Amino acid sequence: MNVQEYKRRLLELEKQLSTRAARDREHAREQVRDSPGDIGDASVADEAESEDFTEAELDATVLQQVRDALRRIEDGTFGRCVVDGGPIEPKRLEAVPWTPYCLKHQRLLEAASRPQATPTL
Ligand SMILES: [Zn+2]
Repeated sequence: MNVQEYKRRLLELEKQLSTRAARDREHAREQVRDSPGDIGDASVADEAESEDFTEAELDATVLQQVRDALRRIEDGTFGRCVVDGGPIEPKRLEAVPWTPYCLKHQRLLEAASRPQATPTL
């Protein structure tokens, strides 16, 4: 496994996500500033804002995982599942280099978190 190649990709991704996160925050501020006092438009603005927020949250999650993966490269544990320490499938690592889980544990995790995916209001 070429760890240096993964490191290069992860560092590049970290840069992209950080830049985008900063831009999203700026964008969100602008929306608040530009939002008209009209009640009808306000609900539309609210919706757009919450969508942005979800996307930003997703970015923040990936960014955190990218940073964790970079730390695992330094630790020498990169490419190993954080749950059982088993090797992560090479194809999976190729597609999602920041993943902390092997396919089995990713699936278990997704199954466990699915009911919580429903928004709680
Ligand atoms: Zn695992």
